[in-house]
Amino acid sequence: MKPIHRAAVIGAGVMGSGIAAHLANAGIHVVLLDMVPPNLGDAQKNDRTARSAWAQGGLDKALKARPAAFFHPSFARLVEVGNVEDDLSRVKDCDLVIEAIIEKLEPKQSLFARLEALVKPGAIVASNTSGLRIAEMMAGRGEAFRKNFLVMHFFNPVRYMKLLELVAGPDTDPAVFERVRRFGEDVLGKGIVVGKDTPNFVGNRIGVHAMLATLQGMVEMGLEPEDVDAITGPAMGHPKSATFRTADLVGVDTFVHVADNCYASLTEDEDREVFKVPAFARGMIEKKILGDKTKGGFYKKG
Ligand code: NAD
Repeated sequence: MKPIHRAAVIGAGVMGSGIAAHLANAGIHVVLLDMVPPNLGDAQKNDRTARSAWAQGGLDKALKARPAAFFHPSFARLVEVGNVEDDLSRVKDCDLVIEAIIEKLEPKQSLFARLEALVKPGAIVASNTSGLRIAEMMAGRGEAFRKNFLVMHFFNPVRYMKLLELVAGPDTDPAVFERVRRFGEDVLGKGIVVGKDTPNFVGNRIGVHAMLATLQGMVEMGLEPEDVDAITGPAMGHPKSATFRTADLVGVDTFVHVADNCYASLTEDEDREVFKVPAFARGMIEKKILGDKTKGGFYKKG
């Protein structure tokens, strides 16, 4: 089976930077790209370092991940940072491209359209989406691209979570799927769960369902996040992170996008009301209270 030596990760947020670090730890050369920060001053607009500051910031956070031994500084040399405006063409040398940008359909679709024109024949393109439909992400893409496309859904934090959910689309070549499954198991050390191309796949159909049901229960019963976590955490034999600590880790904006996508897709499903996001969670997004990646969250008060 053809090995994967070089990869690109697009989106250097919570997940993309963690995925890039994990790949580098496995000895893979990685190009990590994010957007050009939109508010650069005139002096910085043509400065390559400033234009790639978001990807560098993501990598720096991954380098500080605990335990420190997880990502030895010597692996950092395997990661090159850049931005999608100047550096997207660097995907042409990559055997695998993993998309980990915002959980919205349109930006992902336009990124895939750009990638289609750049990737080398036979390169695998994967999305780390939490649950967008493959058929929708692939709208407008040609057969060769669709054949080499699948979902590689990592869990947060990538360095600890052994689970990797793989989902094939209607056109994914079974040999490509098998190549990624072997890579995930043998090179990345993950345990594979094979999901179906249904809204939110397996992990988030259950995980975000539970998160939203708990959030709504908290509001109805007038509880605080600490009260809920005291019950859903160690007392129930679950890890310390529990419900709302997990929400801070995942990112309030991300779980709201995931819930909204599921609500929109489950038109006939009587269970869809569970995925309705309470107004206060949207208010948190407006105020940029997004969890660990910002200054405030359910726990960290901004
Ligand atoms: P995040 O908000 O931490 O990071 C997203 C990054 O993408 C940001 O740095 C942003 O600047 C960048 N970005 C946005 N649009 C872009 C574009 N057009 N081109 C390049 N970069 C762009 O989000 P995240 O939590 O890392 O989530 C990324 C993806 O991973 C989403 O699809 C999400 O559903 C999925 N995911 C998230 C989790 C989680 O726990 N947070 C777990 C599994 C999967």
